[in-house]
Amino acid sequence: MRTRLALIATVALLLGTAGCAGDSAPRYDATPAPTATGRGLEQGAEPAGTAPAAPADTSCNPRASLRPSGALPQPGRMPAGTLMADIQKRGRLILGTSQDTLLFSSRNPFTGKVEGFDVDMGRLIAGAIFGDPDKLQITVIGYDQRVNSVLQGKVDVVADTMTANCDRWKDVNFSSIYYEAGQKVLVSKNSKAASLEDLGGKRICSAAGSTSYDNIGKVRSNPPPVAVSRATFGDCLVAFQQNEVDAISTDDTILAGMAAQDPYAKVVGPRHTQEPYGMALNRDHPEFTQFVNAVLEKARRDGTWKRTYEKWLGRFGPAPQPPAAQYR
Ligand code: GLU
Repeated sequence: MRTRLALIATVALLLGTAGCAGDSAPRYDATPAPTATGRGLEQGAEPAGTAPAAPADTSCNPRASLRPSGALPQPGRMPAGTLMADIQKRGRLILGTSQDTLLFSSRNPFTGKVEGFDVDMGRLIAGAIFGDPDKLQITVIGYDQRVNSVLQGKVDVVADTMTANCDRWKDVNFSSIYYEAGQKVLVSKNSKAASLEDLGGKRICSAAGSTSYDNIGKVRSNPPPVAVSRATFGDCLVAFQQNEVDAISTDDTILAGMAAQDPYAKVVGPRHTQEPYGMALNRDHPEFTQFVNAVLEKARRDGTWKRTYEKWLGRFGPAPQPPAAQYR
């Protein structure tokens, strides 16, 4: 049996549940939580390989966003009639993100602030609109609220380890890709599993509304793994530490943050998916998508992207080249 540090579980529990607006943390044996696309797997009840995982929509190039038009306006001088002008008038940019994804967006227990690579993407945009990256209001959302928060105008932008895919493009625009991740699996240090396929019959946790949750349903091992959902990956970490699940599967970025918190855990496997991260934006305002893409172009060019990578992820090695922008 795994020995776990109670402190780690407690911290993860706090990070995972404190103040999560809209998180109705599902119970272990409760009704399945639907994914953002409405095609949830049974929560802990259904072997993943037999669950009706919908085939991925490959009808688009999810990496291709809207080409920026011309130079960026000066901060504080957003063109009239644009969403940027509305945001400027409001006085702050509203960013939807998590608070329990260490390195990407997690609450710093010492400062109380949510920080990480994703938060810095929001700060870049606030800086471009106002000339002040601190003019950023963070709204903590669950993974399954990422699309809806944008659709309902509750946030201006979601930067939340969010994979740009064709299903989601039907509801929101994505910025150009700002990070390339891939799905792996976290297991106990003493586990012999080397990939998801080695976890047949085991309970694997993912957050409701995440692409990883859907992907567990596509593993064709015999027996198949059992997909278990929790409201957040912080909740998955607690479930893992309490031996309620055998493994957690999600993007390597998120797992790296978990492994950094748990000396009894390790991340294994090749990347068995590609998870290109984009910021989700309102489709009704293509000018804002173009603006955000211009901000990202500048960040790639002037070294800001690289510095941001080194700040949050430098411990894993030198910064790669930023993902090249693709446009439709
Ligand atoms: N990148 C994933 C998504 O956008 C989040 C992590 C996961 O799926 O596990 O849903």
